[in-house]
Amino acid sequence: MNIILLGPPGAGKGTQAQILVDSRDMIQLSTGDMLREAKDSGTEMGNKVAEVMARGDLVTDDIVIGLIREKLQGDKKGGFIFDGFPRTLAQADALADLLAEQGETLDAVIEMRVDDDTLVKRIVGRAEEARAAGQPVRADDNEDSVRHRLMEYYKKTAPLIGYYHAKRQLESVDGLGTIDEVKAEIAAVLDR
Ligand code: ADP
Repeated sequence: MNIILLGPPGAGKGTQAQILVDSRDMIQLSTGDMLREAKDSGTEMGNKVAEVMARGDLVTDDIVIGLIREKLQGDKKGGFIFDGFPRTLAQADALADLLAEQGETLDAVIEMRVDDDTLVKRIVGRAEEARAAGQPVRADDNEDSVRHRLMEYYKKTAPLIGYYHAKRQLESVDGLGTIDEVKAEIAAVLDR
């Protein structure tokens, strides 16, 4: 089973993806994590995307599609969880083609709904906690960048909600519940 977790920054996609990895042996494909790894490894591509990410802009479709293409070749285990991808309609079309090439299907798109004020509070809070604990803080986890990421989300990613709705693949869950409540809502969708 292959699924997309769709939602604004701070919606809890990464948390729920990790739960699915542990409970269903699925593979999490987070383009954000892949881009941060590329950034830390200091490759040419990494250096190119670092500034874009810090501003809260989207990196180019070609780069993220290339990253995902590579990962779809290997072991598929319990299926893929696309986390933070696709983020544009062009990426959504590319994903459909890549899955078809692999003989795979897209089984559900789960939209996690959370209001803007909660998102900003969660992300800025996460950064403050990390800072207090002496842990690394993401360069884009400050209020300006978060507001910018949200605007990017509404302009470029939110249209995917209509797109997948029209394809009858969209399921929405309330992302404001506890981690366990959201987990249960997602499980209900996947086990239907
Ligand atoms: P969040 O959803 O919390 O904003 P992510 O870790 O998913 O964070 O992504 C961080 C940044 O990485 C994004 O703001 C963007 O710059 C870049 N990025 C991640 N995934 C994509 C994608 N699919 N397309 C373009 N840019 C992406």
